[in-house]
Amino acid sequence: MTYQSVNPYDGKTSKTFTELTDKELDTAIATAATCFETWRTTSFADRAVIVAKAAAIMHANIDEYARPVTLEMGKLFAQARGEVKLSADIIDYYAKNAERFLAPQPLSPATGEAEIVSTPFGVLFGVEPWNFPYYQLARFAAPNLMAGNVVMVKHAGCVPQCAIAFEKLWRDAGAPPGAYTNLLISYKQVDRVIDDPRIKGIALTGSVEAGQIVAARAGKNLKKSTMELGGSDAFIVLEDADLDKTVEWAVWGKMNNTGQCCVAAKRFIVVEPLADKFLAKFQAALAALTPGDPMDAKTTLGPLSTEAALVKLVDQVKRAVGKGAKLVMGGDRIDRAGAFMQPTILTDIKPTNPAFREEFFGPVALFFRVKNEDEAIALANDSEFGLGGCVFTADIARGKRVASRVDTGMMFVNHPTWTTPDLPFGGIKNSGYGRELSSLGIQEFVNKKLVRVSAIDAPA
Ligand code: NAP
Repeated sequence: MTYQSVNPYDGKTSKTFTELTDKELDTAIATAATCFETWRTTSFADRAVIVAKAAAIMHANIDEYARPVTLEMGKLFAQARGEVKLSADIIDYYAKNAERFLAPQPLSPATGEAEIVSTPFGVLFGVEPWNFPYYQLARFAAPNLMAGNVVMVKHAGCVPQCAIAFEKLWRDAGAPPGAYTNLLISYKQVDRVIDDPRIKGIALTGSVEAGQIVAARAGKNLKKSTMELGGSDAFIVLEDADLDKTVEWAVWGKMNNTGQCCVAAKRFIVVEPLADKFLAKFQAALAALTPGDPMDAKTTLGPLSTEAALVKLVDQVKRAVGKGAKLVMGGDRIDRAGAFMQPTILTDIKPTNPAFREEFFGPVALFFRVKNEDEAIALANDSEFGLGGCVFTADIARGKRVASRVDTGMMFVNHPTWTTPDLPFGGIKNSGYGRELSSLGIQEFVNKKLVRVSAIDAPA
């Protein structure tokens, strides 16, 4: 069964869901395509009323939306509440700003008049991951609905109740049938949707493997796609950094969402003078985390999303150790019910160890010691990924210089990572292409159409 709610805290299955038949899927696409014909001509102001209402409903019911997040994928409840609020903020941001972002842009041609106008593509299809069950959907849905597109989403199998709650949100906000559609469908049906001529653009957030499959299918159909994929973000610590504050941010950067963030700090790269002290303090802080019920405010270490994710991560750590990495702490499941993983630090990961190039999706930190800034940058760039990264230093100019030399889509100085509606999000290399959020995110699936006006008797 692909779509089921299993609580990773106790392993209990609360609900299972059946997938759509091909006929039901076809009807859903037809409804979306019909909806597009009226939605595309609906004014920004009228779309904004519905989109702003969706944001207001989320803001007014934070606990109600947060609960299924914690129950389906184990996020600490306080963090789930934060995600709901951020998702509502994103939706509201596009309700307020979309018209400005998509306003016609006048050009200054040598002759005549010209402008670029933005028109929607049509029905879009998103494939989304479980780690931020609403935030990822909000990033895709809100800008595109405001742009005049309509969206269909295949969400991850382990968060069906979040997927269904988000679809209901749009109905409750007054969106017409077909504006936002949740699809409980198989991988084979994902191919069918991508191939369908009524679908005009594809967005995927997830692993590199899924990205390669879905992007290839979109490419075969000559459909535009955006890919938000994995990462192995570097957390660079220079010798002039404030050690105590840096360690606090290191714990946050590693452990937010129990390490299951594409932009989690994954490779800790510390210059020699601070390396031992950093490692000791970081280890002590991770050891102090308390596993427990993610609904309980006292819990600081939640379970991983699923038992399968835990088994995969423990095995990945064991393979890394088998190839020569050293375990400073952790490395195994916690001896209790639920999908709990010990906070783990690995050192001595040589470039010949496959772990050197892998993404560890959970509470596992790879620790590297380097001689200086140049070595730190070279190591940060020695990765197939290019999503985010950060540098800690007392010298902001130096931080910006380092940031400019690291090959990623996002760099942060004195903070592990950050996302707000008005900051663009996305990566390069195997971390994907395209951007979500900010004014950039709304431009991905609109036609930038040139309209030129000449006097009819003007010379050619
Ligand atoms: P995943 O296995 O790739 O799943 C993501 C989505 O793709 C799910 O809906 C999944 O469906 C679907 N999917 C997987 N294989 C597919 C296939 N062959 N055909 C059609 N659909 C397919 O990734 P995950 O493990 O859930 O998420 C973690 C990954 O996402 C990490 O690598 C993380 O870094 C990345 N991520 C990136 C960003 C970003 O913005 N760059 C944000 C969040 C996460 P099922 O659930 O049904 O398998």
